[in-house]
Amino acid sequence: MIPVLGFEDCKVAVLGLGRSGLATARALRDGGAEPLVWDDSIEARDKAEAEGFVPHDPMRAGAWDGVAALIVSPGIPHLYPEPNKVIAAAWDAGVPVDNDIGLFFRSFATYEFEDFETAPRVICVTGSNGKSTTSALIHHILTVAGRPTQLAGNIGRGVLDMDPARDGEVIVLELSSYQTDLARALTPDVAVFTNLSPDHLDRHGGMGGYFAAKRRLFAEGGPDRAVIGVDENEGRYLANQLAEVPEDDRVIRVSVERKLTDAGWTVFARKGFLSEYRKGRQTGSIDLREVRGLPGTHNHQNACSAYAACRALGIAPRTIETAFHSFEGLPHRSQRVAEKAGVSYVNDSKATNVDSAAKALQAFTGIRWIAGGLGKDGGIEALKPHLGSVVKAYLIGHSARDFALQLGDTPYEICETMARAVDLAASDAQAGETVLLAPAAASFDQYPNFEKRGEDFMQQVQARLAD
Ligand code: ADP
Repeated sequence: MIPVLGFEDCKVAVLGLGRSGLATARALRDGGAEPLVWDDSIEARDKAEAEGFVPHDPMRAGAWDGVAALIVSPGIPHLYPEPNKVIAAAWDAGVPVDNDIGLFFRSFATYEFEDFETAPRVICVTGSNGKSTTSALIHHILTVAGRPTQLAGNIGRGVLDMDPARDGEVIVLELSSYQTDLARALTPDVAVFTNLSPDHLDRHGGMGGYFAAKRRLFAEGGPDRAVIGVDENEGRYLANQLAEVPEDDRVIRVSVERKLTDAGWTVFARKGFLSEYRKGRQTGSIDLREVRGLPGTHNHQNACSAYAACRALGIAPRTIETAFHSFEGLPHRSQRVAEKAGVSYVNDSKATNVDSAAKALQAFTGIRWIAGGLGKDGGIEALKPHLGSVVKAYLIGHSARDFALQLGDTPYEICETMARAVDLAASDAQAGETVLLAPAAASFDQYPNFEKRGEDFMQQVQARLAD
């Protein structure tokens, strides 16, 4: 745990008692503050009480007297579509609102750092897609390079839940736009912006607000190095704003669409090859075509971003290349789960919308495509340009019939269940083809979440292949 500094003997309100909220309350208590905890859910409050925290209803009269700050969980809206009533009450009482990321940055560096040979560093990763994969890949490369490292943020572990930093350690944080929007301190050493596409617009009042939230990572304090995907206008604009001169190598530009060989520091992937250029000269290259854990252009973008972040810390290209080959990918994201008789089985259950399903469909050829679930507005209309590599679709769940109507000439079969879809796809598949789960739909009609759907797929594949 990282004890929160600067609130000794102060009352600090904590709103939202999920994983990160509870970790925040513990870290505040450890740092000598008095956390006043609240969650609308009785079960969450009971859980906190069991750990000795006393619930305080922030809406009762006098609730904000003597409160130094309100710390909120990322799931709670602070502005759009409308502010949570507790946050609005804190504004009215003049109480500063922050989150666990802000607390982390004000508490991370301690006097002990002065005795370290190498000061600990923080890498933050934000963007619309590929944050988890890029963060996990950076963490994996650092591990292979023998650097002490911890991974936290949006990706499982609450930031204040981490162990205090060790000599030479690199902390890798995945940050969502909600987290970057609210944090009052954001001072990473290396900041990564993967890409930008419309997402969560309701929470940010439109695309401008969404971009503004992500940009804060680069504005507050300013990282030593910024790794920026420049395939969208927003990324190009951001890189341009940060660089003082064309050859300014505090900015590393990343692309999977263009060769970037001008002045400055660049990393790009084309036709399956990653290249690094510095001051107009090539300084590194990696063949990504044989990297099995990172299939497809979208993963090549993640590879470039992770490569650039690790190069910014001085890790050698060869070490990064070795680490790419031992990266297994994250569960449920283009995850190769089995191979038999020349047929690959890939689980991309996280492809819950058409955007991410499109990336998966572009990453493979000869696809036996398992899709469907709780479809989103517009169904799979937007996937039409990407159906060329689909040999046949095996449709499951609530949206199966709607998806069938949008498939055009692509052969399909309504399978209803995962078991039947895997069964048919596996028996139809020829050597060289890929059975791909990329649903383009939410999972909630048949599963509690996309993870359970992916696990079901893997179990069905194992059962089928064991026959
Ligand atoms: P995030 O943490 O940003 O949601 P993930 O790494 O968990 O990103 O990937 C989420 C989904 O998006 C997966 O279906 C994955 O295949 C797809 N994806 C991964 N990286 C990218 C990328 N760079 N661009 C577009 N889609 C991506």
